[in-house]
Amino acid sequence: MQLPIQLLNSLSDINGFNKEAFESVHASGEQVTSIRLNPAKVQVGTVFSTIGDPTHHSPLTTHIPWTAYGYYLDKRPSFTFDPLFHAGCYYVQEASSMFLEQALKQTVNLSQPLKVLDLSAAPGGKSTHIQSLILKESLLVSNEVIRSRAKILKDNIIKWGSANVVVTNNDPKDFTGLENYFDVIVVDAPCSGSGLFRREQEAITEWSLNNVALCSQRQQRILADVWPSLKKDGVLIYSTCSYSKEENEDIMEWMIRELGARSRELGVEESWGIVRTQSGSGAVGYRFWPDKVKGEGFFLACFQKMEGEEESAFKAKTKATPVSKNEMGAIVKWVNTDGYDFIKHENTVYAWPENLVNDMNVILSKLRVIYSGVRVGELMRDKLVPDHALAMSGLVSADLSLLPLNYEQATRYLQRKDLSLETKEKGWQLVSYEGNVLGWVNVLPGRINNYYPKELRILKDSN
Ligand code: SAM
Repeated sequence: MQLPIQLLNSLSDINGFNKEAFESVHASGEQVTSIRLNPAKVQVGTVFSTIGDPTHHSPLTTHIPWTAYGYYLDKRPSFTFDPLFHAGCYYVQEASSMFLEQALKQTVNLSQPLKVLDLSAAPGGKSTHIQSLILKESLLVSNEVIRSRAKILKDNIIKWGSANVVVTNNDPKDFTGLENYFDVIVVDAPCSGSGLFRREQEAITEWSLNNVALCSQRQQRILADVWPSLKKDGVLIYSTCSYSKEENEDIMEWMIRELGARSRELGVEESWGIVRTQSGSGAVGYRFWPDKVKGEGFFLACFQKMEGEEESAFKAKTKATPVSKNEMGAIVKWVNTDGYDFIKHENTVYAWPENLVNDMNVILSKLRVIYSGVRVGELMRDKLVPDHALAMSGLVSADLSLLPLNYEQATRYLQRKDLSLETKEKGWQLVSYEGNVLGWVNVLPGRINNYYPKELRILKDSN
């Protein structure tokens, strides 16, 4: 692997850079695989053993020290053929980026309801992580500007099963309408990507000093666009997967100088191998060098807003249509209704946490929302056709029948193939693998209709 010489030269003065060790870790071909458990679906601390391979029964033991939910795997299994992956029990995520958890825990009071924006959220690694850390009364706006990527983000949010997330598809400048609104903004910025060279070798050919400069300018534009929507005392967490000073320390310096942001320092254990770095005026950031941490290249810095208004109280001018009493009659048997309001868009019913209804309406009136709360299903005449998102969420009624599948059946189900199962019960049922819901089937006399969403199905026939 030939690393760009201009990159190596540009890093020579940066804290923690060791050219030989850096080159050697890139040459070694070593790949680090890690996952983060979904605490809403998996009891963290229990043995969770069949990741990607039902014959591989060793428990998760190698914990990633800066997160409560992350584990290293000793080999990279086929996640595609692991039903638990499709059930949303875990997210496959690079270990360094899970450091976001420390940034949130150390700078924000997570035990109170918050409004959080994840500005560049696709495919959803940070958003699903944030969702696991905030209260269910908190709101997460998970945004992605590129439409095709926003769709993937939506699918991952659905799989995670959360009700307190709104997925939007907006440009950073569209957030100016939400002045002083968010308690926390995460900007995991688009960057030149050098931190991922070990995993994505094609990124090396795309790298150039010119692109680093362009990324740096774009990062400033993005930060300037969203800064007004952070309220006074609010926290902005900035991260990249680039090693370049122009996208890291120089951005910190720009945040202090141009936006009047205050740098927030984090406590980091020495054994973690994370390198503390400073900009000229003393702003503090954290660098992850792959020869020092078990993870990929990453950078993170936290800032607090010192000026502005405490919080803008927005009142939604237009409101989503609530579901009528009659229509509720068709919904109650499917859903745990406690604590949720039900709204509809055309015939599609969504569940919103009742304390977030005003905020969800505000977001709906100001941004391009592509998903909110939990999509419960489609009203057809007097009946509800349940949605896959309901099956994946914690809202699905505990009274519904669960049809357990073995590994072969679960794989067939996820491939959207025909199933032949012994079941006396007829009608809509949830199917599960090792107690985790995979989706819906409708058992008819003589056949079983597989309702796994076509666009999510496993396309390969075998591993
Ligand atoms: N946070 C994501 C995660 O943890 O899974 C990864 C985000 S990736 C580093 C950066 C994202 O920024 C990409 O999804 C990209 O589409 C998006 N992006 C590209 N141009 C952008 C822009 N001008 N403003 C905001 N986001 C942009």
